[in-house]
Parts: sequence; C-alpha cells; structure tokens
Amino acid sequence: MAGEDYEQVVFNYDRSSGLRAIIVIHSTALGPALGGTRYWQFDSEEAALTDALRLAKGMTYKNAAAGLDLGGGKAVILAEGTGGKSEELLRAYGRFIDTLGGRYITAEDVGTTGDDMDMIHRETRWVTGISPAYGGSGDPSPATAYGVMHGLRAVAIELWGDPSLDGRRFAVQGVGKVGHALVGHLVDAGADVVVADVNPEHVERTVADFGVTSVDPLKIHAEPCDVFVPCALGGVINDQTIPELRCTAVAGAANNQLLRPGHADALAEAGILYTPDFIINAGGVINVADELNGYDERRARLRIESIFRNVAKVLETSRKEGVTPSVAANRVAEARIRAVGRIRQIRGPQGATF
Ligand code: NAD
Repeated sequence: MAGEDYEQVVFNYDRSSGLRAIIVIHSTALGPALGGTRYWQFDSEEAALTDALRLAKGMTYKNAAAGLDLGGGKAVILAEGTGGKSEELLRAYGRFIDTLGGRYITAEDVGTTGDDMDMIHRETRWVTGISPAYGGSGDPSPATAYGVMHGLRAVAIELWGDPSLDGRRFAVQGVGKVGHALVGHLVDAGADVVVADVNPEHVERTVADFGVTSVDPLKIHAEPCDVFVPCALGGVINDQTIPELRCTAVAGAANNQLLRPGHADALAEAGILYTPDFIINAGGVINVADELNGYDERRARLRIESIFRNVAKVLETSRKEGVTPSVAANRVAEARIRAVGRIRQIRGPQGATF
C-alpha cells in the first residue's frame, strides 16, 4: 500500500521505553516533511500505518498549497502498551525523529500537546509547536482562526465581489479554541453570527464574550445563513446534512469536513460554494512552520494573511476549469510541487542545491 508514491516509511521500536512509532515521509520535493504526531490507541499496526500514510499525503498537499517550503509527512505513536506519554517515551520518540536528520519535522496532532512537543524538543531540534518560553509559537489555534478569517474574505469576493463581511450571516459549528477566536474576528468585522456547540460552557463563554446568538447543535447546519462555518468535527458535510443546508457557502476550520470526496460534487450540485478545509485552515501550520526560522509573530501573521490569496486562487481555478474546489485545490498544490520541486533540483557549481 505504501507504493511508489511515498519517499520513506520508518518503523521504530524501543525496548526500554516501549515506544512503537511510525514516521511516514510522503514527499520532500518542496523541503523537509512537516506534519504532526498522532498518539492513538490503534486496533493494529496496520491500522496505524494506513492512517499515517493517508495523513502524510494530505500534509504534502496542505503545505504545498499554503506556499511553504516544506514537504509532507506524519507520524503515529501506538498508545497500546505504553502506559501513557511518559518522559521516557517522548524522549525516545525525540531521538527517533533525530535519526532522520531533519528530513521529518514534527508538530502537535490528535493526542499530543504543546507540553509533549517541549519534551520531544529536549532530544531533537526537528520539532515545532513548542512553548514561547523555548522560542516556539505556542497554541496554533489563534493563528488558524486568523487564517480562516482571511479565507472568508476571499469567499466573500467570490460570492459578492466585495471582501466586506459586514451584515453577512455566519453559522459557526463548534466554538472551541478556533471557533471562539473566529467568532471574535467575525463580530469585529460587523458580521451577524449564530453559534452552536455540544459543550454548553463553550456556548455561554462565546455568547458572553461577543453578544452572539446560539442554537441547538443538532440544527446549526440547517440555520439560514450566508456561510456555514464548521469548526468542530470532520464528516459534517454528508448525505444527511447537504439537503438541509440553507447557506450559500461552506468554509471553516474543521479538518475533513466532507464525509466522502463525492460530497464535493453534491455541494456543487446544490449550488453551494465549498472552500477546501486544508486550504482555509492552514494558519496553524504556517504559524508553526515559522519557528524553523526563529519564530517572529509579525512575519507569521503576514504569511497567514496569504490564505486570502490561496483561497481566491483555488476558487478561481475551480470556476475557470469547471471542476469542484476540492479538485482545484489538489491541482494548485500539484502544480506548485512540480514547478518549485523542479527548481529545487537545480544544482550550482559546487553541487549545492538551491
Ligand atoms: P476544540 O476541541 O478546541 O473545539 C472543538 C469544539 O467543537 C468544542 O468546543 C466541542 O465541544 C465542539 N463540538 C464537538 N462536537 C460538536 C458537535 N457535534 N456540534 C457542535 N460542536 C461540537 O478544537 P479546535 O482546536 O478549535 O479545532 C476545531 C476544528 O478545527 C477541528 O476539526 C480541528 O481538527 C480543526 N483544526 C484546528 C486547528 C488548530 O489550530 N487548533 C488547525 C487546523 C484545523
């Protein structure tokens, strides 16, 4: 299954810590492979590998479309039998990453935290998402929300020929770390916002902070609005929800919003503009990637603002080439990997790679 599509797959077993981990490097055509580490109770080693392969390829596309000089990779640590994320386990994992000499750079993902990244950092420099105290950028969520906000302005231009969100209605599903921050940006921009969350405390906090209204979380996707903004779980765009949507566009932070790839076509048939999640939610990865140059918040913010252009380009490609935005997003990423990947192979007189 790894096939010729993947550059490298490395398994690691460390007897003393009990670490079992897999690092998948899908592509380094644009630079070192960046992607998070998932700590998860997998049913089998094969299931862990399947997940890592799928996610690594996704990171190649995400990083390429975000304009980063980074390839795509992903890692999984098999939680089964480890007895938790001990110092020993995480440091053994850091050593494993270090053996790849910077071809793979890790970050936080499901089941890992910023504190875990700090621990890994004690053994390797090839880790991002570390604390500001160690020169890192900390929690990526505010950066993700900032990026989604810029992407929404590009969506507004595509829909209405104007980037203003003033008076437009947004239905935000999930007001956790990203959703809450995004609602703040939307309210500042003069938007009319309705929210929902399965956690009542998160709803109360958002209503109190920004004076927005809330609805039943089972009904938020069916709320009449301009843009439905998924910021909770994946798979929310599916056979059940699509006929109930009352929006003009779907654009938000949640990963894997479409339950199946075919749902991109179903949205297009329903006349709803979809912004691929991996294009609009790249603020977090752009932010952590900046750590590789010595984190500079101002520079990172400028780079995150480029999500406006990235979204605009994908929507324009979709319109001009008559394909769904999902297909267009893949084409944009592949075109950059081909073009810039070729340039990176040009060698100078001393054999240096430029
Ligand atoms: P979070 O856990 O802080 O927030 C998710 C919120 O969704 C929680 O408040 C939770 O109660 C709520 N929720 C769960 N199920 C729900 C449902 N059925 N209906 C309504 N609300 C529901 O997570 P987050 O960091 O804010 O991330 C949100 C989404 O964005 C996730 O899909 C995540 O993968 C994606 N994402 C996050 C980042 C980031 O920087 N944090 C970056 C890229 C993508």
